[in-house]
Amino acid sequence: MENNMQFKAEVQQLLQLMIHSVYSNKDIFIRELVANAADAIDKARFESLSKPEFAQKWEIRIDSDEKANTLAISDNGIGMNYDELVSDIGTIARSGTKAFIEAMKNAKKDGENAPAGPELIGQFGVGFYSSFMVADRVDIITRKAGSDKAWKWSSDGKEAYTIEEAQRDSQGTTIVMHMKEDARSYLDYWKVSSIIKKYSDFIEYPVMMRHTVKKDDKETVEDSTLNSMKAIWLRPESEVTAEEFNSFYTHLSGQVGEPLKRISYSAEGTSEFKALLFLPARAPFDFQFGERRTNGLHLYVRRVFITDNCPGLLPDYLRFVSGVVDSSDLPLNISREMLQDNPQILKINKNLAKRIISELTKMLENDREKYEQFYKEFGRLIKEGVHMDFANREKLQNLLLFETMNGPKGKLVTLKEYRDAMPALQQEIYYITGDSRETLETSPHLEILRKENYDVLFMTDPIDEWVISEIGTYDGKKLKSVNKGDVKFDESIQKELEEKTKKAADENKPLVELIKKALGTKVKDVRFSSRLTESACCLVSDEYDPSAYMQRVLKAMDRNAPNVARILELNPDHPLVVAMKKLYEKSPDNAKLPEFSEMLYDQALLAEGSPIPDPLLFTRRTASLMTLGMEKEASAE
Ligand code: ADP
Repeated sequence: MENNMQFKAEVQQLLQLMIHSVYSNKDIFIRELVANAADAIDKARFESLSKPEFAQKWEIRIDSDEKANTLAISDNGIGMNYDELVSDIGTIARSGTKAFIEAMKNAKKDGENAPAGPELIGQFGVGFYSSFMVADRVDIITRKAGSDKAWKWSSDGKEAYTIEEAQRDSQGTTIVMHMKEDARSYLDYWKVSSIIKKYSDFIEYPVMMRHTVKKDDKETVEDSTLNSMKAIWLRPESEVTAEEFNSFYTHLSGQVGEPLKRISYSAEGTSEFKALLFLPARAPFDFQFGERRTNGLHLYVRRVFITDNCPGLLPDYLRFVSGVVDSSDLPLNISREMLQDNPQILKINKNLAKRIISELTKMLENDREKYEQFYKEFGRLIKEGVHMDFANREKLQNLLLFETMNGPKGKLVTLKEYRDAMPALQQEIYYITGDSRETLETSPHLEILRKENYDVLFMTDPIDEWVISEIGTYDGKKLKSVNKGDVKFDESIQKELEEKTKKAADENKPLVELIKKALGTKVKDVRFSSRLTESACCLVSDEYDPSAYMQRVLKAMDRNAPNVARILELNPDHPLVVAMKKLYEKSPDNAKLPEFSEMLYDQALLAEGSPIPDPLLFTRRTASLMTLGMEKEASAE
């Protein structure tokens, strides 16, 4: 039986790139294939815990054949059956590869398609397909563990591939690459050996290769192990080179280059484990907030790989961390189900979270620039942590950063820094929420604060309001939204302001009632305010209601989210309010008054950047007022 099949369009696209690759560092194809081989052995080894017949003397083998011009990489791991060959090799499985294609498309959009490709190949690593950088034909001979059938997959990497039945003595997979003319150098033992040392030294199965050595003029064939197999996390840090750490980081995270921070951890006592963790420098392309990456943190038990999917190992909000945890306490034959709610895993989780938070705290204190770089990429997850991780909340809230009203755009401060800079008389920590610095800067809610020279934290991330309500008070000071409830000032001005608003309220009771009636359910209340110095009016949320911004966020998630009416606040000194009062005193039944009330409300919405309910009506009303005004000007001349 032989089957001819077409690659999916996405794969064809990728293969095109590989075939025409001008990427100078083609070496990585060895890293990718050896990693796949090690993964396949990991899987078989794990299965062999319950199916002893799968157990082998685990090894990866590289065979070079100068005459046939082929390089073959074999493993005795899990192997693939027919369906897996079709589904796993013919489609794009790994998220890194998907991100790679995405990045390629974006680069194309930006009109710089040529140079982006080659660089990106190295950055992402594109798995099996990278073999087509060096080979013009690739065969896969594979036999699934536990099956007696073997298959041969073959392709020139253009449009199609074939699958036919084949012979293979035992379980595992062999990838045979028919080398391109310009890639023959990869048949050389020394070259392969140095690539393995560089990228795959820590792979825990022996990578074997045969080569001829000349001894006393006699040629003999020797089988050598190319990798040291030393578990990098068990070696003293001083003995591991930066390059070794980096390639291990790449191996785990798929990210190339240096991690932002490396953490070695060794726990002794009630729980024994070692961990080697990496905080990435950048969020990967496919890093979705709320989505769990499964392959970041690998769990080993006494050097045996167990799983790269153990959600309990770290709190969810630390999902950007990659690394290895090697436990001495867990049983080797632990099943994935048993890992859930396991007390040892929970202990590891607690210890690691504490350590990561303390490293971040140190970074914030000692290397602000680096920390801010981290925060730009992953700050949102710290906020998620404040929300989720009650035990560490206090430490996590110290890791938050915000822009402020008085600081320039881009300058970030911690809650502590804000607190330390507060004037002695300031009663509360002020913040304001909204979609961007730009809309916040012009918000009428800030007028009095600006006048009194207070600073205000700017919160422009939808998650901020939740996080802040979680924090409540910081260092004895209440976190106070300036677009909610009443703002409390220090006594010296508070009294004066209160008196002024009280006086205005007393004098204008009937007018306020009229406005309230005109606006109906649109507002929760109408009152005079001390927070305005320039604008005529603004809308504030009641103390425990969601802010307007939060309401918009909720609405975006759920169209049926309820509208919570807000309070319309009036500036008693504003000419518009003064004129309205005059008109009311002269003719309380004037039909213009309800209409002007609605316009005031619309103005308050516009000033804070919210849409108004009936823009057409609003323009019609302003047009008629403008006409009036202009006619008056004209007749005066
Ligand atoms: P990734 O390894 O990230 O999944 P690849 O494109 O390299 O992406 O491989 C796709 C899939 O093919 C793998 O997930 C695995 O299921 C299968 N595969 C690749 N190489 C081997 C191998 N040596 N043994 C068994 N399965 C393999």
